Amino acid sequence: MATIPLYPNILSKKGGFCKRSSNWPAKVIGLTGGIASGKSTVGRMLSEQNFPVIDTDKLAREVVEPGKPALKELVKVFGAEILKDDKTLDRHRMLEMMLTDAGARQLVENIIHPYVFKRMDQILQQLAASGNNVVIVEVPLLFETGWQNFFDYIFSVVAPEPICIKRLAERKKMSIDMASRWMATQIPQEVKAKRSDYVVHNNAGLYELQIQVNRLSEILKQL
Ligand code: ATP
Repeated sequence: MATIPLYPNILSKKGGFCKRSSNWPAKVIGLTGGIASGKSTVGRMLSEQNFPVIDTDKLAREVVEPGKPALKELVKVFGAEILKDDKTLDRHRMLEMMLTDAGARQLVENIIHPYVFKRMDQILQQLAASGNNVVIVEVPLLFETGWQNFFDYIFSVVAPEPICIKRLAERKKMSIDMASRWMATQIPQEVKAKRSDYVVHNNAGLYELQIQVNRLSEILKQL
């Protein structure tokens, strides 16, 4: 993978205008990066420093729970074969379908993402109402979904590609080939890094990552 240039540790909003709701916290930070690059780990470290963190992956799982409209829409489009015997979504099957058919992936994302956005919007409004000024939102597909203008600043986590693929394969109990195909569906990490206001380089151990997050946390406290 190409070397990712180091970015200065200052925030400089690159995205231009921000389509934010006036009912959101004063600063809403989008946290993104490559698949299995360490986004959730960075999110966890920031939440340990008392920043509220919204995990949109978790929201994406909630909006397809049994009885929820997004699951009904998925069944309408793809049929009941995307359900397991217990009527919950067969995630493995859906992932395989998304990795082999870009059209299907687009359809799934078009169904799920608006519901995720709606929940994120509700939670941001609640957090603002309870006095939170800075909130982090972890959005794995932030650039792929075109959500960049919803955030005041965007942070990316990048890590060496072979490590990400290995971690992904181990965590999801899938082959290296499937993990590589999954990675290939996303915008390359170096492109995400270039479009971000701040980049966390997760290319060493957790201790080194924590040091970077501590620095980031000091910057966030100045916002
Ligand atoms: P996904 O794209 O699947 O949501 P992610 O980008 O949120 O993944 P994490 O879940 O934070 O990535 O990290 C992936 C795995 O790698 C986790 O098991 C995490 O504990 C481990 N990990 C992350 N960073 C490091 C590091 N610097 N050293 C060792 N392990 C790490």
